Amino acid sequence: MNQTHGGGSEWTAEGTPGAVDWSAEDMVVVSNRQPFRHDYDEDGEVVVDRPTGGLTAGLSAAVRDSGGTWVAWGDGTADRDVVDENDCVSVPPEADEGDGYTLRRVWLSDEQVEQYYEGFANQVLWPLCHSTMSLVRDDPAYWERYAEVNELFADAVADHARPGGVVWLQDYHFGVAPGLLRDRIPDSTALAQFWHIPWPSWDVFRTCPNGEEVLAGLLGNDLLGFHVPRYCENFVECVEESLDEARVDRERGRIVYDGEVTTLGAFPMGVPVDDIRERASADEARDAAAAFLDEKGVDENNKVVLGVDRLDYTKGIPERLDALERLFDDQPDLRGEVTYVQLGTESRSNIPAYQDLQERVQQRVDEVNERFATDDWTPVVYTTEYVTNETLYGLYRRADVGFVTPLRDGMNLVAQEYVAAQGDGDGVLVLSDQAGAFDYLGEYAVGVTPQDATDTAEGLADALRMAPPERRWRTRALQRRVEANDIDTWMRTAFGAIQAVERRTDAPVGASTSDAGESES
Ligand code: UDP
Repeated sequence: MNQTHGGGSEWTAEGTPGAVDWSAEDMVVVSNRQPFRHDYDEDGEVVVDRPTGGLTAGLSAAVRDSGGTWVAWGDGTADRDVVDENDCVSVPPEADEGDGYTLRRVWLSDEQVEQYYEGFANQVLWPLCHSTMSLVRDDPAYWERYAEVNELFADAVADHARPGGVVWLQDYHFGVAPGLLRDRIPDSTALAQFWHIPWPSWDVFRTCPNGEEVLAGLLGNDLLGFHVPRYCENFVECVEESLDEARVDRERGRIVYDGEVTTLGAFPMGVPVDDIRERASADEARDAAAAFLDEKGVDENNKVVLGVDRLDYTKGIPERLDALERLFDDQPDLRGEVTYVQLGTESRSNIPAYQDLQERVQQRVDEVNERFATDDWTPVVYTTEYVTNETLYGLYRRADVGFVTPLRDGMNLVAQEYVAAQGDGDGVLVLSDQAGAFDYLGEYAVGVTPQDATDTAEGLADALRMAPPERRWRTRALQRRVEANDIDTWMRTAFGAIQAVERRTDAPVGASTSDAGESES
């Protein structure tokens, strides 16, 4: 193994992203969640849930421009009633003929949802990839259903993949599908996957049930992308330890396995910076945030510390409350002056670890409030209610501190949204050193170790007491970073890499890989 590349910089995507002509490709995007969902409302009318921003909206536009197809699980109550005989529906619903794209739905039984989605995906791969091994819950049926559902997706994709086109899989729900797809799609179709969560070290991944099959499945891709080079490095280490016949070429960022080449790359994902900045600066956002805070009884002169998270144990919300308690213990002058607002969206509520987390968060909120609240000050405002994007962006803009402290996170988009929303403001980002985002925002954020309540409390105090000039230069520096790496840049960089990747051709197996073998390190 070549140890001189420990930093992993060779996995960084090269070159400046150019303009991508999406229409030049026949693209199939594959994800577990669908971009459009059809549901019946209480009057029995069909209503459509649609993408509102970020990755799904960006990918949706790209599939539309390519005239392609999106394959996803149809989980809406009206989904089956609006598809044609091939399980397809044209979206967006209002598009004129030829202007939309095809959404191909895959149907899952309750048992498949429980064992593939809630089981292997979210109780094995999710906790393992976030290095929380104690929360892994395995059952042999989980793997069986995961493999079975991957097969269903592979069959559906095969109906739509075209020679010379692109198939682009999203995330950890498809650890087996790429290997299956190689026998089902033309060799000239580029097969790519982006893994949105961390990839753990070998020492953690070696405990993964059926881990070898997952690694082999993923090596069916021509291109495999992660957010940061560290995850590529971890993946390569797992392949080297687990698959004897795989050969790694670090110089060229490739793995040769089963006579075929998989290229790895780090593509740090961004957010729609211009859109967020504009909407966060609008009067509507300011008013919506002010109304929200007023309704929750927050004094308009108070400093606001903001957390925005799915209620997931990886986000470190109880640990954040520990740090807040430490702050009010150690720095009593901040009591009454600072309000911590936590927006939490319930998530994966059928899984016991998530139910426990929801209870724990509520309990810690109550404890902190019971200890410190006064007649006219509540230290923690916590809600799981839906808030509009206007309110969310207005809160980002209003908050003096963005408090983003995941215990582990593939990237973390909330940190970037907070920075983007500042516009000409100067909110301070407190950021966990365990988030992928830390790798490129850590230099200008206030970095904290989220498991360490004292360190996190000190970081929070530093942020709250930071002088305006320092707040300003840090914000400007962070803004330059998120602007340079927004969602559009990510799409163009990742897609440019897919277009450029070496495709599997009709040449005899192994013929295209001999040079890769020679430069094996
Ligand atoms: N989000 C939201 N409301 C919430 C919590 C999260 O709209 O109460 C959005 C947030 O704005 C961001 C995304 O969900 O766009 C979360 O992305 P991130 O990468 O931070 O975490 P993930 O949930 O994907 O693990």
